[in-house]
Amino acid sequence: SDQQPLLETRDLSVRYGGVTANQDVSLTVEPGEIVGLIGPNGAGKTTFVDAVTGFARSTGEVRVGGKRVDGLPPHRRRRSGVARTWQAGELFDELTVAQNLAVAVQRPGLRGLIRDVLTGSVPPAATIGSALETVGLVDVADRRPPELSLGQQKMVGVARALVGGTSLLLLDEPAAGLDTHESQHFGVELRRIAAAGPGVLLIDHDMSLVLDVCHRLYVLDFGKVIATGTPEEIRNAPQVVAAYLGSP
Ligand code: ATP
Repeated sequence: SDQQPLLETRDLSVRYGGVTANQDVSLTVEPGEIVGLIGPNGAGKTTFVDAVTGFARSTGEVRVGGKRVDGLPPHRRRRSGVARTWQAGELFDELTVAQNLAVAVQRPGLRGLIRDVLTGSVPPAATIGSALETVGLVDVADRRPPELSLGQQKMVGVARALVGGTSLLLLDEPAAGLDTHESQHFGVELRRIAAAGPGVLLIDHDMSLVLDVCHRLYVLDFGKVIATGTPEEIRNAPQVVAAYLGSP
């Protein structure tokens, strides 16, 4: 299944009562690729992440590495390699950075544990270490989130999503609240993470970050994909400009 996209949705739709939050969204993320999902407030970006991760009920197809996961509960999708961050950071202030990651490692249960031991799966401690290394946080592993800069705290959230066998990272506004310098730094780190293998779906309102760091973009408006292409193509797409100018 190496030829399969990490993520492929086909005609994914989500309805909340009378609101169509996602309508026929077809999107792919390839290994090592950073794909941006942008659009005005309320366009349906978070809803898409909720649908892919199993937190929102959807119609249409969701494939991870070629395998259908729609219909599976969130923890089963997590096990297939899908991990997300949340708009609010949700870190535990009383725990160290390393402990924040440790609580996110899947508890496989006795059967899973036996299977992991027998198959020689990576032990959690090594997973945490390599996640911290990947995001450049080894030096602050024993510090608590309130002692860190906001940029570092955001990276802890990303590292936490990386532990436990992650092939697809869904990042919901990870750069919110960062200043220009921190945001640029975040972009560089993100490129490094994606180069290491996992695919990334990036939602953010920081256009310079998104246009800078993404290989491809999808633009949502009123739940529908109105444009897709490279940053260069998206920058010049008239329907994108119209969608942004036409919203508050
Ligand atoms: P933002 O950029 O402001 O975070 P978004 O693009 O992530 O917005 P969503 O939060 O996905 O947009 O919302 C899409 C639409 O679905 C909106 O009209 C929103 O009000 C609606 N919606 C989202 N979640 C729910 C829900 N749980 N129940 C009902 N309606 C919802």
